[in-house]
Amino acid sequence: MTAEQLDHLADKAIRCEAPTRAEALTVLSESFELLDVIAAGARVRREFFGRRVKLNTIVNMKSGLCPEDCGYCSQRLGSASEVLKYSWITPAKAAEVANQAVQAGAKRVCLVASGRGPGDRDIRRIEDTIAAITEDNPQVEVCVCLGLLAEGQAERLAAAGAHAYSHNLNTSEARYADICSTHTFDDRVDTLRRATTAGLSPCSGAIFGMGESDDDIVDLAVALRELDPDSVPVNFLIPFDGTPLGDRWDLTPDRCLRILALFRFYFPDVEVRLAGGREIHLRSLQPLALHLANSMFLGDYLTSEGQPGADDRQMIADAGFLVEGVEDQTLPAARHDLVAIRRRGAGTALPANA
Ligand code: SF4
Repeated sequence: MTAEQLDHLADKAIRCEAPTRAEALTVLSESFELLDVIAAGARVRREFFGRRVKLNTIVNMKSGLCPEDCGYCSQRLGSASEVLKYSWITPAKAAEVANQAVQAGAKRVCLVASGRGPGDRDIRRIEDTIAAITEDNPQVEVCVCLGLLAEGQAERLAAAGAHAYSHNLNTSEARYADICSTHTFDDRVDTLRRATTAGLSPCSGAIFGMGESDDDIVDLAVALRELDPDSVPVNFLIPFDGTPLGDRWDLTPDRCLRILALFRFYFPDVEVRLAGGREIHLRSLQPLALHLANSMFLGDYLTSEGQPGADDRQMIADAGFLVEGVEDQTLPAARHDLVAIRRRGAGTALPANA
């Protein structure tokens, strides 16, 4: 490929056209200089998101002891990782943790709980937690991540004021059985569709560094694009001791940045979020990722610590970016989140816009 072909790829992305498979594979190969790939992806990022970086925070509502066996996960069945294990934290505690992150710049709070999927009591807990968080911070976006959803549960979460539902596809359909035997790729697709149908903003992404091929990466990007998510978290495997993938350190900063660029080309006007593993795999090249992703998690992850929030904010400022404010709309005007479902006024505890 030539530099003109990279320009062509960026032009296509700005028109929201997907790359061809051949183009996608070339981005992942080393046919191009890395900085040329980043520059092309950065042009697309600037077109739709300017210099804004949206900050998100994770609240781990219930940690460890999951009956599922996802091979990358420190909370999986049989995990020997020495991560924190606890049952549901209270809505008040979750609101306290969320409030700290919001004061530090987070716009979205992701409520995550280990497990195959929620029961009735779990949904009630989350309803109470959303109420506690939005009482202090009515402007915050609450995203919920509870695993596989049964019929009617997504509607309850939407009615409780959840903004989004997160459920990653993680890896390609062809490899799914290699990383998990207790549920399928189709189960995950089904849950994401339920959430979308209920009016929740769909969030679904990936974990890289699990032995996937370039073709797997492209297959996953294509499958995710078909689901039309509003946000796409890009994780790089955190290899926890005591998990089946605990010795996989396959990624390089170059590989991570090419993957992020590819995801920007596939998801030009979508929130591409720099997620778990960025510190250990991108290392000193982390700031370059901000030219591709327009969103990132602030501070710690589910069971591992990230870099201090102050360092994240300094990195953003040093790289010439700005933390996105509550008054800023994340997605560009053409995307459907412009239609804001009413969550205040009649039928709610919040005052109406007047
Ligand atoms: S990823 Fe979720 S479902 Fe899979 S083992 Fe971890 S907590 Fe359980």
